Amino acid sequence: MSSTWHILGAGSLGSLWACRLARAGKAVRLIVRDQQRLRGYQQAGGLTLIENEQPRHYAIPAETAPAHGPIHRLLVACKAYDAAPAIASVAPRLAEGAEVLLLQNGMGSQDEAAELVPHARCVFVSSTEGAFREGDWQVRFAGHGFNWLGDPRNPTIPAWFDDLHEAGIPAEWTVDILTRLWRKLALNCAINPLTVLYDCQNGGLLGHLDEVEALCAELAGLLRRCGQPEAAHGLNEEVQRVILATAANYSSMYQDVRAGRRTEVHYLLGHACRAAARHGLQLPQLEHLLQRLVENLRLRGLPCD
Ligand code: NAP
Repeated sequence: MSSTWHILGAGSLGSLWACRLARAGKAVRLIVRDQQRLRGYQQAGGLTLIENEQPRHYAIPAETAPAHGPIHRLLVACKAYDAAPAIASVAPRLAEGAEVLLLQNGMGSQDEAAELVPHARCVFVSSTEGAFREGDWQVRFAGHGFNWLGDPRNPTIPAWFDDLHEAGIPAEWTVDILTRLWRKLALNCAINPLTVLYDCQNGGLLGHLDEVEALCAELAGLLRRCGQPEAAHGLNEEVQRVILATAANYSSMYQDVRAGRRTEVHYLLGHACRAAARHGLQLPQLEHLLQRLVENLRLRGLPCD
């Protein structure tokens, strides 16, 4: 089986993974959106990763989805709302037994993706690393973090897992990936929408801790109802720790809104509210939060889903 890493989406995280894998001598190919983007990439001659103020250039080969050749290992690094259409565009190229790594934040997009490629093994990733685009094909590694990978349907560690360690990508295989994703989603729901509504850094929520606490109580109830009691454990305390530890930071949702970009709300707070409705759970604080956020996005002319 080919050991090439095909990376679908050469944005912030996709480029961060691609450059580190290429640097370690792994075979990497980027799949970019269309011919126009491919021409732009070829003019730039590769990706630039800025790490510790040091820019380094990586001439990684790139193609578009309709290119020829089977794909055995695919890292999907698009936003959650782009993941399913992007995977559909390469699905005919996925080889028998292909493995698909899904880097998306939130929940729901992983299942949408898995439905499109029922014969592939889908590995879910929960990442706390931070990167952002300074320009086209130029990415800054902004925050060290960690990656948890797992497959809810198959606990066996994949053969390629050592590639990550060799590439210096901090990662651990976990059989509890859903717990990790739920916990991260709950932290996001308790912090990010409020930072948009109050137009503040994470630390600004120290003035709204009663509201945060009420949200955490509802989120913990939801997690337990969804069979994730571990993800519910000590949620409010962790949310408060995160708010303090990241007081000077702007949440990812806040940054998206300020930059006029579509948010991933559908796969974050939206997913939580849909899960509650499926379980017949009334969560008034959470539902009201979603209504206020949707209204806020609408007034800014941003997509609400
Ligand atoms: P990003 O910088 O916006 O990159 C997404 C990339 O996907 C873009 O390059 C976009 O292409 C590409 N794309 C979209 N549709 C495509 C298609 N059909 N075919 C090929 N490429 C396509 O996003 P990101 O920040 O890396 O985020 C990716 C995911 O990781 C999100 O779910 C995010 O929440 C999660 N995450 C990000 C970070 C972080 O620090 N960045 C940290 C943790 C988790 P164009 O360049 O043409 O627009």
